[in-house]
Amino acid sequence: MLEPGFLCLYPFLSAASGYVNKAGLTLEDLISSASARMRAKERVIEAIRTGIIVRPVITHDAQAQMELLSYPFARILVSCIHDSYLIRRYALAEAKGAHKRLLEDLSATAGGMSSGAGAGAGVGTGTGTGRVLIHELAEDLGIHAEFLPHRSGVRVHFTDYLRLSVNLRDRRWKLVNRSMVRGKVRLEMGEFVRIIQEAMYERIVKDLPLDVPAEICDSLKEHIEHIKNELALRRNKHEELRGPSGGDTGAFPPCMIHILNNLREGVNVPHSARFAVTAFLLNAGLSVDEVIELYRNSPDFDEARTRYQVEHIAGTKSGTRYTAPSCATMRTYGNCVGKDELCEKISHPLSYYRLKIRSKLKQGEKK
Ligand code: SF4
Repeated sequence: MLEPGFLCLYPFLSAASGYVNKAGLTLEDLISSASARMRAKERVIEAIRTGIIVRPVITHDAQAQMELLSYPFARILVSCIHDSYLIRRYALAEAKGAHKRLLEDLSATAGGMSSGAGAGAGVGTGTGTGRVLIHELAEDLGIHAEFLPHRSGVRVHFTDYLRLSVNLRDRRWKLVNRSMVRGKVRLEMGEFVRIIQEAMYERIVKDLPLDVPAEICDSLKEHIEHIKNELALRRNKHEELRGPSGGDTGAFPPCMIHILNNLREGVNVPHSARFAVTAFLLNAGLSVDEVIELYRNSPDFDEARTRYQVEHIAGTKSGTRYTAPSCATMRTYGNCVGKDELCEKISHPLSYYRLKIRSKLKQGEKK
């Protein structure tokens, strides 16, 4: 597994940097490799556009080496731009690409599908190469796992589990819903592979942005401009989605603006804030699809699950639509952020919105 053909698929592993060091490759080699530079730019642009960096088919060693070098180069590009949203999106896209590839490798080595769970359903849990691969990745990423016999999964120390499941929102990931024996949490193999994705993200995002000398960033100006343009396009698209026909974002209360900004920036938003903003937006006139779009940047975005939850709050099937929480409830959950003067006159975020709309209409009439 220390071949460049393997390492280039998981270039964030310590073994990959060990390979680069051992091969005597320097920063100068990196900068002077036009193909690695180009591939690095593609990596970052793919992250911005699609949110996943799909691993290519590797046909020869030279391609594997170029692919491997493009990873540190992509980190340099992202660091020169120094944008926290880009850093998170890029790291997540790398982790998702590696996770996808891992699932494909495991399915191939298992010779088919077997029962798994959630995002990792379909992962082979046999005792062969698949297990060795998972074991080596986990070890390199600092997760100490005990493999259970006969396809019965893995046990992970609860401290590792808590650290790596913190961004996973589904109820089944909560510690109280897991079986724990002597401080170790039991996971199905598919679940463990999902946890590995979190560890990959943690590894990739660590140390970003790098402290890149200004002259190196200057020499990459052309690539950086291209990436910045893509980033601006993505942001504009998101802004359009934030200002749909049914909702006047200029009239939203500060708490909702704060949550929306976090969603846009890919910051993990707690469940209570997700519920509040979803109910608020639906009541302000956004459609289910428009609300779902706002969640697309979330680190754990899953379209089917998000749709189910948004439709539930909208009352699409039950006919009962939830309303947003009151200001008092928002305060209780720490979601009342950025209070302004108008907040002193209301007790509900939707009242804030209606008052603001009314005052805007009045101002319009006067003009
Ligand atoms: S007072 Fe109410 S409307 Fe204003 S920020 Fe707090 S929760 Fe939002």
